[in-house]
Amino acid sequence: MRYLWLIFLALVTSASPLRAQDRPQDHLNVVASFSIIGDFVRNVGGDRISMTTLVGPDGDVHVYTPAPADAKKIADAKLLVVNGLGLEGWLPRLVQSSGSKAAIVTATDGIAPLRIEQAADPHAWQSVVDARIYVANIRNALVAADPADAEAFRANAATYLAKLDALDREVRSAIAQIPPARRKVISTHGAFGYFAAAYGIEFIAPLGVSTESEASARDIAGIITQIRTEKIPAVFLENISDVRLIRRISAETGARVGGTLFSDSLSDEKGGAPTYIELVRHNIKALTSALAN
Ligand SMILES: [Zn+2]
Repeated sequence: MRYLWLIFLALVTSASPLRAQDRPQDHLNVVASFSIIGDFVRNVGGDRISMTTLVGPDGDVHVYTPAPADAKKIADAKLLVVNGLGLEGWLPRLVQSSGSKAAIVTATDGIAPLRIEQAADPHAWQSVVDARIYVANIRNALVAADPADAEAFRANAATYLAKLDALDREVRSAIAQIPPARRKVISTHGAFGYFAAAYGIEFIAPLGVSTESEASARDIAGIITQIRTEKIPAVFLENISDVRLIRRISAETGARVGGTLFSDSLSDEKGGAPTYIELVRHNIKALTSALAN
């Protein structure tokens, strides 16, 4: 008899109305333009939002071609979180064609952009210090869109920002192990300007700040000369770019391939960088193991 009563209680409890924030259809619907911003949004929004990403793991956000499913995602969204600084050139047309009324949140607001010639360098997430600004902007946007869950968003953001502070210290102490004369590498495209500015490693890349460009024979020849005269110890592949160019530069100069850097995208679950924190850790480990001795 007592067991029946317990079963009855269990049934009543499970059938009781869910609180508003537990019902998925009431969750704030947020779309992130690419995987790294998606990870920031997920960390701040937690279980109070439902989140989808347009450009997924190992995708190239510079040259993305939206699918019809992307228009549907945006049409249903309340918030659309983007990087800005010219990264998502394909987005305005997609937003227009979707008829979306989503508020657009530019996660880099307040970051002083680096410039390469005329173009703004969009890769500010590569500095953990700037990643903090992304997270603060995302927190403020979620709070404004869903004040009922403000407390949860603020608490999640504070927890995540503390992790980013620890990560920033980790990067600095890892770089400190590399002799200053060896803090120089070749990567595929100019994705590490903010990392270079924050942490003092020089990156030289045959492609500019967008993967849309192509390296000229003259650019490649210049880099090959530079590797030889400056004795640059290592070249790096990138998860989003064709590896042939860097392999060719390595073969011609004898500079070793120091591994793969994650530039503009997370990996999938098995790829070594499924979150932003793991991405940064992967990159500093690749850099220090190629350069520290
Ligand atoms: Zn890029």
